[in-house]
Amino acid sequence: MSADAAPAPPHKPLSAAQKALRKLGLLRDIDLALHLPLRYEDETRITTLAQAREGEVVQLEGVVTQQEITYRPRRQLLVTLDDGTDTCTLRFFTFYPSHQKALAVGARVRVRGEIRGGFLGRSIMHPSFHAAGGELPDALTPVYPSSAQLPQAYLRKAVASGLRRADLSETLPPELLPSLRQALQGQHAPVMSLREALHFLHHPGPDVSLAALEDRSHPAWQRLKAEELLAQQLSQQMSRRERDALRAPRLGAPAGGLHEQLLAALPFALTAAQRRVVEEIAHDLARPVPMHRLLQGDVGSGKTVVAALAAAVAIGAGWQCALMAPTEILAEQHFAKLVGWLEPLLAPLGKRVAWLTGSQKKKQRTEMLALIASGEAALVVGTHAVIQDQVRFQRLALAIIDEQHRFGVAQRLALRSKTGDDAPAQAGEPHLLMMTATPIPRTLAMSYYADLDVSTIDELPPGRTPIVTKVVADSRRAEVIERIRAQVAQGRQVYWVCPLIEESEALDLSNATATHAELSTALPEAMVGLLHSRMPAAEKKAVMTLFSEGVMGVLVSTTVIEVGVDVPNASLMVIEHAERFGLSQLHQLRGRVGRGAAASACVLMYTPPEGGRLGETARARLRAMVDTSDGFEIARRDLEIRGPGEFLGARQSGAPLLRFADLATDAHLLGWARDAARALLDHHPARADQHVARWLGGKAEYLKA
Ligand code: ADP
Ligand code: MG
Repeated sequence: MSADAAPAPPHKPLSAAQKALRKLGLLRDIDLALHLPLRYEDETRITTLAQAREGEVVQLEGVVTQQEITYRPRRQLLVTLDDGTDTCTLRFFTFYPSHQKALAVGARVRVRGEIRGGFLGRSIMHPSFHAAGGELPDALTPVYPSSAQLPQAYLRKAVASGLRRADLSETLPPELLPSLRQALQGQHAPVMSLREALHFLHHPGPDVSLAALEDRSHPAWQRLKAEELLAQQLSQQMSRRERDALRAPRLGAPAGGLHEQLLAALPFALTAAQRRVVEEIAHDLARPVPMHRLLQGDVGSGKTVVAALAAAVAIGAGWQCALMAPTEILAEQHFAKLVGWLEPLLAPLGKRVAWLTGSQKKKQRTEMLALIASGEAALVVGTHAVIQDQVRFQRLALAIIDEQHRFGVAQRLALRSKTGDDAPAQAGEPHLLMMTATPIPRTLAMSYYADLDVSTIDELPPGRTPIVTKVVADSRRAEVIERIRAQVAQGRQVYWVCPLIEESEALDLSNATATHAELSTALPEAMVGLLHSRMPAAEKKAVMTLFSEGVMGVLVSTTVIEVGVDVPNASLMVIEHAERFGLSQLHQLRGRVGRGAAASACVLMYTPPEGGRLGETARARLRAMVDTSDGFEIARRDLEIRGPGEFLGARQSGAPLLRFADLATDAHLLGWARDAARALLDHHPARADQHVARWLGGKAEYLKA
């Protein structure tokens, strides 16, 4: 008999409720203990009918004096309850024989529900009920977030036993408690322990202010939020420390080196902000530890040249650099720019810039791969194709990712593992520079991005003219077209963005094709082009070239131009159905104009719903666009409108969002959490591990890329 024929250990199949618990992520005792109520029901007292007011949710106790099923206006079970002070009708539209049995005449029952008034006397619709008797609970009854397969009663029991069994010992050393008390402003009492806080939140006494529980300002909530933020800071500082233990090539930037040659060759001088971030990056590159830096700068702030200078440092030190962009058009633009800036300097060294994309012909691709493997390509620019398996670098020292939020964790990790065949074994991994035009509000940077270093370009190159933003109804389309005509007559160029291409007629989105036809007819004097995501790459490229060379006056497109396109002669941006775009998207799109010296404008066209007004959020977004062109202010409002979830995009895929802390109201705890995490890691590493395991369990891994 073979060894693997041994009987498997008996497995008890999971019940539906157990499966539902798993689905909610409630696996460990501590997960259950940290599963906090959404709200509470007060079953601690019984109200008499004489005292009960209409609209109040009350618990009554009395005797059933009458039961009948009526059919008018529809089938229903009516039960009369008498509690000695008055009577009341219990009304059920759906009911089972068990209802009739439990609520038989003569039964003494406890019922709970909202009292309603009415011509025929007071009633309660679908009250919950059970046999009278038994002690009244001495705490509010918790109502937990649950799912259809998971009855509250089952979940309550599971949580209660999780709470009983979980290890809730204090992870904070005593010396960190005073600072926590201080952070919890205005709280003079001793800080609650986690154990106290959890027991309290699961079973608050009857005299507690429900308001303080509901708005989560209660000291017990405060303690929980502080704990949660601490866990987040800990896991990020841990991954930062792990990274600091890794090696990366040291890339010096000597005087007279390639980066200085590039600086001298540029047709403009760097802004002070660009100089500062170039310094910050150069400082990182000179260290033998992998850089993990996020470069944020508003649209048009000039991130590309900063990337080029970083690349020049790496190349000057004898290494390769890779630059990856999310779309082919964007990668193409980078390629054109970088070739223009760098190839004159590379040619004398016998090096060049390679181009990699998915749509490339096989022959060209093979050629490029060879250049990359031999090291002749000092810089590789492309799309996702750059991280594919066949791509072998000779010695890669710097990876640059544009519009980092468009890439997932796995893709960034792939780039980091590509140091190359010729790199000395001790070289370690490449430095990583991520760029984004969606500025991250400070609280987010301090929380979700705490594991990264952030450089900010907070200044636009000189000579930009402010963009005037107008919101107009679609009914004024004809005026907008006249405006385009005037711009084109002055030799300027115009973008017209439509939200979707032929996605669904039912959505009534005017599609780009129709708009293209309309504008072509209305503007016979101009060349009107069309660009949308379903066009073949070669066609896209041809259209983009005509536009960037100034031949094409008007470019109708879907959001493919959302990121990065740079045509300084474009002076008017029209966004159709602007109400359907997100705020940061609108801001990015608007940033496509105002890049040259001409006065620029952005027209946000909206279509109100039939006979109505735009919704509140849509109006808030459009208002924000008119109010400000500051990317940081836009980001702050966006965070307000949408919350952090969408903001983080691919970065957070699968990683835990904050469940309890709210960056809008709990920012005062962030600074404490950051400092406490540092102290814990420095002086109490075992407690730090315990804390992270408690809060994040297996999920901490996600945060590391
Ligand atoms: P983004 O930060 O949005 O990627 P780009 O790098 O595309 O911005 O730069 C926008 C435009 O500004 C480009 O045409 C670029 O060449 C130009 N530019 C960048 N830095 C400067 C500068 N210091 N002075 C003048 N023009 C600049
Ligand atoms: Mg850019």
